[in-house]
Amino acid sequence: PLILGLESSCDDTAAALVRGRTVLASVVVGQTDLHASFGGVVPEIAARAHAERLDLCTERALQDAGLPLAAVDAIAVTAGPGLIGGVLSGVMIAKALSATLGKPLVGVNHLAGHALTPRLTDDLPFPYLLLLVSGGHCQFLVVRGAQDFTRLGGTIDDAPGEAFDKTARILGLPQPGGPAVEAEARGGDPERFALPRPLLDRPGCDLSFSGLKTAVLRARDGLVADQGGLTRRDRADLCAAFQAAVADVLVEKTRRAIAVYLDEDPAEPAMSIAGGVAANSAIRGGIETLCAETGLRFTAPPLALCTDNAAMIAYAGGALLAEGVRHDMSLSARPRWPLDKHAAPLVGSGK
Ligand code: ATP
Ligand code: FE
Repeated sequence: PLILGLESSCDDTAAALVRGRTVLASVVVGQTDLHASFGGVVPEIAARAHAERLDLCTERALQDAGLPLAAVDAIAVTAGPGLIGGVLSGVMIAKALSATLGKPLVGVNHLAGHALTPRLTDDLPFPYLLLLVSGGHCQFLVVRGAQDFTRLGGTIDDAPGEAFDKTARILGLPQPGGPAVEAEARGGDPERFALPRPLLDRPGCDLSFSGLKTAVLRARDGLVADQGGLTRRDRADLCAAFQAAVADVLVEKTRRAIAVYLDEDPAEPAMSIAGGVAANSAIRGGIETLCAETGLRFTAPPLALCTDNAAMIAYAGGALLAEGVRHDMSLSARPRWPLDKHAAPLVGSGK
């Protein structure tokens, strides 16, 4: 079946057409320009922009695929978690399309979209271990099926992407901070500043990143007080120290998550990584090496499918439809929606 996917849970508006494992079209329109002067995503502005742009993105996706709207067999939409206004915009448009076309509707968890993406681009058998690291999330999941996830642990405060973005802001680097910090770090000495490795002294797979960002702030203020400002060298060294600390923490916690996962004795042990921070080569490289050491196959989707997009929503929606999941016109948007089998079912589950 041809699935139309819609995504509007954060600051990207996206529509995609997916059939099986073929992405026929994937359109993503960012909103960075709209929020730039506010220093963060403004929920009301995001919701309005999503409402205005979803139709346009859908039209462009159909155009890219060379297909008419009537060819769509089902509509998959992000029903949460995320900024409620944006998610509502998507859910409303998906309902309208489902009603006018007379085609099934399925609400998808945004995190499930990220978590299942490795299967869109690779033959990856269940169960696999996934590290989701993005601007808003950081968690370890054992992915057992399209509706079957076990969360092994996650951040207790900031997500790593958020920490990269804040660090960039503290050091006067452009947004998004991740790529800017990585570029600066390339010429830096990670040893000059001793930054903390939060929660490494505690057992389990939980992580923390807010202290790291505070440590960067303190180091910057110290340099400003001592010498009146930051040199290029200072900035590069701080970026390198920050990135090394994040990578160390992520790799060490991944080692623990792998141990828990391997305890189940999976037939074909494998691990994947999703979210925008997966683009970071120090982090990705560290995890790849660890997988090689521990006998896990490592696979990661291409970056365009790691960051927010609607192809992952269409693909996850297709997997849910194949398992008989359908939603009706009472489908609701969910600002919070943990990806665990103990989470309450989505309102609007038909039959
Ligand atoms: P979510 O997916 O959790 O809803 P999001 O839309 O902010 O949130 P993504 O689009 O997956 O997340 O990723 C964006 C984040 O990834 C940003 O915080 C950005 O700084 C970070 N990022 C992108 N490239 C890199 C990189 N090379 N190194 C580190 N972080 C990066
Ligand atoms: Fe996301």
